[in-house]
Amino acid sequence: MDAKIVLLPGDGIGPEVVAQAETVLKVIAERNGHVFEMTRHPMGGNAIDSHGDPLPEETLAACQASNGVLLGAVGGPKWDDPNAKTRPEAGLLRIRKEMKLFANLRPIKTYKALLDSSPLKKEIVEGVDILCFRELTGGIYFGQSGRRPHASGEEAWSEMIYSTGEIERIVRLAGIAAQSRRKKLTSVDKANVLEVSRLWRSVTENVVKNEFSDLTFENVLVDAMAMHLISRPRDFDVVVTGNMFGDIITDEGSMLTGSLGMLPSASIGEDGPGLYEPIHGSAPDIAGKGIANPLATILAAAMMLRHSLGLEDEAAQIEAAVDAVLDAGHRTADIARGGASLSTSEMGAKVVESLS
Ligand code: NAD
Repeated sequence: MDAKIVLLPGDGIGPEVVAQAETVLKVIAERNGHVFEMTRHPMGGNAIDSHGDPLPEETLAACQASNGVLLGAVGGPKWDDPNAKTRPEAGLLRIRKEMKLFANLRPIKTYKALLDSSPLKKEIVEGVDILCFRELTGGIYFGQSGRRPHASGEEAWSEMIYSTGEIERIVRLAGIAAQSRRKKLTSVDKANVLEVSRLWRSVTENVVKNEFSDLTFENVLVDAMAMHLISRPRDFDVVVTGNMFGDIITDEGSMLTGSLGMLPSASIGEDGPGLYEPIHGSAPDIAGKGIANPLATILAAAMMLRHSLGLEDEAAQIEAAVDAVLDAGHRTADIARGGASLSTSEMGAKVVESLS
């Protein structure tokens, strides 16, 4: 396969971790007879410095013309001034919108070798393997909002809107993913209180009934889900939910694994390239020290191979290599629990070694 991959290293530790994922992708291409044409483009704070824009037009054009985009992280104290004309995060929101990335996928998987890093008991988190689909471009974060005078001072309002089409398209993606996993789909809403959730529930039930009768399906209220995630997380396979509930439960879920440096995410649309990134930020506190954990970004590259390039085997090769490296006891400082630790590039090299 010939594929165009855009690398957006970004700020802080972004370039350090993306460099390791790039090396892994090169090895995967060589080993499996593919040609990956990888190009780097500015985005985030560095793009504000060089172009006055966190998402320069040529970066966006390159992303749109690619098969997949791998992002490090953007932001940092240098660009934090709330009065600045633009901020790195504006580039993130814009790229999602321009590339019509309405689904955010977050795998929440615990690694046997890292069970002690979780704040929860081993017996609860062992074997957790959840894939969350969070709707990313609708709901309360994109509704109208405002403030008006009130007898006590002011009142504020935010609208939460979902249409049938918006719900159907993400439930479909989640359903397809569940079919190739353990065939269980959970939809999370607040249908006991919110009208928008009642529509979410009825549309979801229809899609499942008509298109995914092979799946085991359940509706769970978001407050109950918050409890189930920490009391019986192993019971979930694919979870689908709206923007705000997804924001909250995926962050809660990420804590099950206990290590930010291990978790990748993907943002995808109906067609076109997806955007793949670690869930962590630019970690300015450790940037330039060469100690960042590159595994989340390497695993994000694996997600790109699976979801945008259709290279399931190659994705699995990377995931198996990461498993093997952890099983062999190799750790970066964030997961070393005080023991010996590898640098960012040493950890990348271990994954490459394990692949070959
Ligand atoms: P962060 O994720 O950057 O860091 C939180 C803590 O985790 C820090 O102590 C950091 O050193 C550690 N950490 C993060 N990634 C690590 C890794 N790969 N290896 C080892 N340790 C790691 O979150 P923050 O400090 O709240 O944010 C820093 C900057 O990143 C801010 O400007 C924020 O806006 C930005 N940010 C960007 C994204 C993104 O690009 N998608 C996401 C979150 C935060």
